[in-house]
Amino acid sequence: MQLYNSLSHKKEDFVPNEAGKVSMYTCGPTVYHFAHIGNLRSYIMEDVLEKYLRFTGLDVKRVMNITDVGHLTSDGDTGDDKMLKGAKREHKTVMEIAKFYTDAFFADCAKLNIKTPDVVVPATTYIDEFIRVISSLMEKGYAYEAGGNIYFDTSKLGKYYVFGDLSEEDLEVGVREGVEEDGNKRNKADFVLWFTKSKFDDQELKWESPWGTGYPGWHIECSCISMKNLGEYLDLHCGGIDNAFPHHTNEIAQSEAYLGHKWCNYWFHVHHLNTTNGKMSKSKGEFLTVSLLEEKGYDPLVYRYFCLLSHYRKSLVFSWENLDNAVTSFGKLIDKIVPLTQDKTGDIDKAEYDRLYGSFNDALGNDLNTSMGITVLYDVLKSKANAATKLALIGEFDKVLGLDLIKKAEAKASASGEETAEEIPAEVRELLEQRREARKARDFGLADELRDKIAALGYEVKETRQGTVITKIQ
Ligand SMILES: [Zn+2]
Repeated sequence: MQLYNSLSHKKEDFVPNEAGKVSMYTCGPTVYHFAHIGNLRSYIMEDVLEKYLRFTGLDVKRVMNITDVGHLTSDGDTGDDKMLKGAKREHKTVMEIAKFYTDAFFADCAKLNIKTPDVVVPATTYIDEFIRVISSLMEKGYAYEAGGNIYFDTSKLGKYYVFGDLSEEDLEVGVREGVEEDGNKRNKADFVLWFTKSKFDDQELKWESPWGTGYPGWHIECSCISMKNLGEYLDLHCGGIDNAFPHHTNEIAQSEAYLGHKWCNYWFHVHHLNTTNGKMSKSKGEFLTVSLLEEKGYDPLVYRYFCLLSHYRKSLVFSWENLDNAVTSFGKLIDKIVPLTQDKTGDIDKAEYDRLYGSFNDALGNDLNTSMGITVLYDVLKSKANAATKLALIGEFDKVLGLDLIKKAEAKASASGEETAEEIPAEVRELLEQRREARKARDFGLADELRDKIAALGYEVKETRQGTVITKIQ
């Protein structure tokens, strides 16, 4: 597979450290609120990437953290702890908030067909590990204590801004709420590894450490959880592009300082979901969640389909109109699959199967070109192959796309069988009424003529003891 690597700024052949195996790390949610659909775009595209790697035969081990401590309202380590903010807002404890929004996150993921990673680690369960790594960074001279906190010293690195070509927007740090310059830092880019109570008295969750009672910074958790579960050499790290700086930049700084060698080979970043007024965020405009989509009558999988229609490295503009277009297009796609589910007989046409399978593999293997993958899906539907071949291909592709295509087509097929009476076209209903009048008047010649006209429109009329029965001619 060719994958764009944010570290080298180019497409590269994806070659895992160990043949046949992939270690994959994903930054998980901060569980103080519902995820908005902009965050979920990243998880959808990462899910497609994981499924595609599995599709090509690789054995993927994927790990994700759950941030339930240490993520402050500004990604630059200032402001309140987001978890504490959530707890205050809802008059609950931090752990109650964490449990509630962790469950809500996975419920949203399930509705979007996002597979749960193999290993999921809440940050609060790894405190000892964080302390161990921070202690080592102190010993190696990469960290210092100032004003009660432990900071990472970015001046000790040869190169800190590893993603280089970040735009001004990317370099903006999180939500700028009550941001004040931290006078304890030796260098502007230094970041907190461990906070102590000296700075945040109202922090609910605190632990003993060699530097006093306190809690970890946000960045250290991902390095520790990844290294502990996936080892010293990570193949692939994923996240939203807004995490490239400072979060991923800091992850690399501390991991490589700790390990003394390169840590992760490939960085996969999903770009923003924008609204028509700019970047989507919790603080701006309508708070768009999966629940809101459902309340408005949208199938969450239509949102997944909407995301797949665009490349993950392009900003995607969300509007209700754009989503409505996706509803129409997704409905038409399912309609084309419905007749295939009614006739599954026949042998697989091997040549046609291999040709189309190859096209799909090429599309996804080219830096995860999902919209091209959907185009190949249409090529399958247009192909001269029999239904069995088409269904087999659609089933395979859907292992990556995750759109429940066959399941939805089958559901639609059985539902339309039950609703025949309502689905009869107006023209046919009109002819039926004329035929009923003709029979009443005992004009059987005219009744037969009308029956033939109805048959020409695709419906069969039969008289039974129960009355007139009309069925669609298959
Ligand atoms: Zn992370």
